[in-house]
Amino acid sequence: MNLVDSHCHLDDPQFDPDREAVIERALAAGVTCLLAIGTGNGPPDLEAGIRLAENHGCVLASVGVHPHYAGKATPETWRKMRELAAHPKVVAVGEIGLDYYYDNSPREAQRAAFIEQMSIAAEARKPIVIHTRDAWEDTWRLLEAHWPAAGPGGIVHCFSGGPEEAGRAVDMGLHLAFGGIVTFPKADKVREAAVRTPLERLLVETDAPYLAPAPWRGKRNEPAFIVETVRRLAEARGEPPEILAAATTGNFARLCLPQPRGNG
Ligand SMILES: [Zn+2]
Ligand SMILES: [Zn+2]
Repeated sequence: MNLVDSHCHLDDPQFDPDREAVIERALAAGVTCLLAIGTGNGPPDLEAGIRLAENHGCVLASVGVHPHYAGKATPETWRKMRELAAHPKVVAVGEIGLDYYYDNSPREAQRAAFIEQMSIAAEARKPIVIHTRDAWEDTWRLLEAHWPAAGPGGIVHCFSGGPEEAGRAVDMGLHLAFGGIVTFPKADKVREAAVRTPLERLLVETDAPYLAPAPWRGKRNEPAFIVETVRRLAEARGEPPEILAAATTGNFARLCLPQPRGNG
């Protein structure tokens, strides 16, 4: 199988002891491309993903301020991010969005950072990676107001909604990335959302080191474990894992990698 981990935090200190081995295991498991989310510990450092991408051929990067750190952003953050968004290995802006579950930053600051970063992504013509938790209504509202449906696209990462939210995301032209949650016994609603999502809008991710799929639930997650998520997702959808792997890898490439220009 040829898989893409569309969302991992490879910079996390939990990988300090064995980061190279983690990447090797991912490659050995068939993960040919990893998107290193660059949010790190928040501003002023925006290069957590870029540093990894610059040192590994298989690693791509995002830049972004996570809603948890929205309160740390300054005008200098946005100036620097505009510059970094043009980096050749930066393929997305994220993860950005709203987290009203933890409320680590004031909601007003979260909304302002989300809007600012949508404009940076639109200018750079790169898709956004959306994090939303306990904030569906505000997320839809801000996307509708600030993210053009005909723009560079976006990914609802670690999709944790049900069929209704999935349908809305698909209608808005977004992709849905499913992770370890689809392997959890009680996640019927999320699995139903995954089953109803059209194949051409599906992505897979680990969100490593968080949210390890069964049978590693509760342990440190790593990109190689994505194989188990794909297996479980394929089973729920009644499709061979190879089909799902090929489709999600193709979807990621169309969304995030520069496409050769045609004549049309
Ligand atoms: Zn997230
Ligand atoms: Zn994440």
